Amino acid sequence: MISKRISEMLRSRASYPLAREYDVKAPGVVNLASNESPYGPSPHVLQAVRREVARIGLYPDPRAARLKSAIADYVGVKAECVTIGNGSDELMELVCKAFLDSGDQVLIPLPTFAMYELACRTNGGVPKFLSLPDFEWPTEKLKRALVGAKLAFFGRPNNPTGNGITLEELRDLLGCGKLIVIDEAYVEFAGNSVAKLAPKFENLLVLRTFSKAFGLAGLRVGYAVGNPKLIGVLEGIRAPFNVNRIAQVAAVAALSEKAYMYRVVNAVRKARTYLRRELSKQGLRVLPSNANFLMADVTPLGTDATKLCDYLAREGVLIRELTNFKGAGPRWVRISVGKPEQNEKLVNVIKKFKGGKKWL
Ligand code: PMP
Repeated sequence: MISKRISEMLRSRASYPLAREYDVKAPGVVNLASNESPYGPSPHVLQAVRREVARIGLYPDPRAARLKSAIADYVGVKAECVTIGNGSDELMELVCKAFLDSGDQVLIPLPTFAMYELACRTNGGVPKFLSLPDFEWPTEKLKRALVGAKLAFFGRPNNPTGNGITLEELRDLLGCGKLIVIDEAYVEFAGNSVAKLAPKFENLLVLRTFSKAFGLAGLRVGYAVGNPKLIGVLEGIRAPFNVNRIAQVAAVAALSEKAYMYRVVNAVRKARTYLRRELSKQGLRVLPSNANFLMADVTPLGTDATKLCDYLAREGVLIRELTNFKGAGPRWVRISVGKPEQNEKLVNVIKKFKGGKKWL
């Protein structure tokens, strides 16, 4: 009964690489594995959510007019250049559904966020992987790889490498005429968005989210910015109530108080500098990052990612091993930047790990 497309996908064993199960909610456990905001949403947003609970018997606004207009103001584009999704995850699905025919190739540089591959495969596409040499973005190689592809997903900043293509490189790649999807889930921490430019191009879509800097991961609100023609296609196929009433209200409230988000972003950036310095002092090779996470090679500690992550979990700190991330592997971990005391705890546990190893 299963469609050929989905059977093929299940055969290829492509699935979201869930983090190993640890007791995330146990008291005192520090979760630096999921790239969420350590600060969550503001009290103002929580209040708006509580107020809206009284109205959950009613469908949300299918046009999401207030939300789109607030996003358009924030990004600096017209509301017709914005559509919304149940997280940016859903927009990746919608993009593939809208623009792929069966067998079309999708350029996916590795390592990257697993949803690009899943969205591609479930919608009949074929991933065209390109391993990033030394986790850098070689424009000429990307250009060559775009030949024969229908569209490309580029994280900017990319998860888990924390870097991405420059604006000049993007302009160059757009010249190839293929549809380029720039995933800016973490862009507030980087501060170099290209969303405002998107409507000027026929082949650029920018995906963004309220899950990271705005601290609303549990509510699932994402959006796409682009030319009204491209956005119109996505609008035409999205379900009318894909973003629920509480999520719409929370996102509008979050945008009415951007100062809170900027405070979060400043705190995370400061903590990112601290964490990179301290982890490097302990011997890890930490890549520079523009996002709210760091990718690090743990081999200088004389261990691998699985062993280190298990040790840290036993000590109450969760980080993400990249053993099962295509294009990363057993040397690599990804660490979300937390609050100062959480980051200090991580550094102390790593010191303890190193101290313990001397006696093994
Ligand atoms: N893009 C990237 C690169 C991500 O890492 C994530 C979340 N882990 C997302 C998108 C998903 O965002 P959302 O919560 O909006 O679906």
